[in-house]
Amino acid sequence: ESNSNLIRATLFPGDGIGPEIAESVRQIFKVAEVPIEWEEHFVGTEIDPRTNSFLTWESLESVRRNKVGLKGPMATPIGKGHRSLNLTLRKELNLYANVRPCYSLPGYKTRYDDVNLITIRENTEGEYSGLEHQVVRGVVESLKIITRQASLRVAEYAFHYAKTHGRERVSAIHKANIMQKTDGLFLKCCREVAEKYPEIKYEEVVIDNCCMMLVKNPALFDVLVMPNLYGDIISDLCAGLIGGLGLTPSCNIGEGGIALAEAVHGSAPDIAGKNLANPTALLLSSVSMLRHLELHDKADRIQDAILKTIAEGKYRTGDLGGTATTTEFTNAICDHL
Ligand code: NAD
Repeated sequence: ESNSNLIRATLFPGDGIGPEIAESVRQIFKVAEVPIEWEEHFVGTEIDPRTNSFLTWESLESVRRNKVGLKGPMATPIGKGHRSLNLTLRKELNLYANVRPCYSLPGYKTRYDDVNLITIRENTEGEYSGLEHQVVRGVVESLKIITRQASLRVAEYAFHYAKTHGRERVSAIHKANIMQKTDGLFLKCCREVAEKYPEIKYEEVVIDNCCMMLVKNPALFDVLVMPNLYGDIISDLCAGLIGGLGLTPSCNIGEGGIALAEAVHGSAPDIAGKNLANPTALLLSSVSMLRHLELHDKADRIQDAILKTIAEGKYRTGDLGGTATTTEFTNAICDHL
């Protein structure tokens, strides 16, 4: 039975703590009366030959059709002859940009109080193209691929994001002094796009200097855009600035306007099934999904309730130094709603 006023979105609860934190999202969406109908898809127990992975063709079709989804962590089953789940999603849905908002959570004390930045990582090429081979014994080679098409696409996304989210500056992060051809092309593409957005300030920062600046004073940055490997590292560094994996949301942007939000952390097998996981990262990811759908009222309400609960400090999960269970923390958020 489906209600036509509802927006359909795909939900992958995922593995390990995934189902527990996905339940938390479901409960909070219900209390906040978010007009979303979830289409749930689970990681299969057998390889689907159409995807060559444990993800079914139907689950990918669901994201393509709905164009919006939320994904819990997935633990890739060990064994040969299939593609990693995350790689399958990235390739099949052409998830070309990974966006991570990183802002200090009021009430949760870290070394910094004023972090408010966005990292945008190119997600399809660079060192992650998987093109490695042995040239002769004792010498191996890995190809770093940078294309004009993928660089323009992620740069365009970064500037568009900055413009539509009231941001003032985009910093391209690179090592073009050494990687002259590859990072050089990436920068060239960023400059081209920057010219179309005169209202947004544009700067280029060398990756090593960027790390030093981020650790000294993260408030120096606004929106950062970068090739794949740098994005992998810098986005985790930024997660650390605000309190770690349990708190950090992300969203993957794909071809044709697809947005697949996901927590940054993995399936946490050490605490899975024990009602101990912190659902905040997945919840804040669901908030970015709501913002993508322009359901800003609902997004604001849920985000406020999460931040209030954490700031109050009465119910915090173990990773934040508290003793609350996932359920107690979730109920506290519902009370604030
Ligand atoms: P992990 O993120 O699962 O766990 C690292 C540590 O952080 C653990 O001690 C864990 O208990 C803790 N932690 C993580 N999320 C938490 C939360 N929400 N609340 C409280 N504590 C939390 O990393 P790992 O152990 O390296 O990986 C475990 C599995 O997850 C692996 O199979 C890996 O491939 C997979 N993984 C998947 C994704 C993804 O789907 N995007 C990302 C990373 C890892």
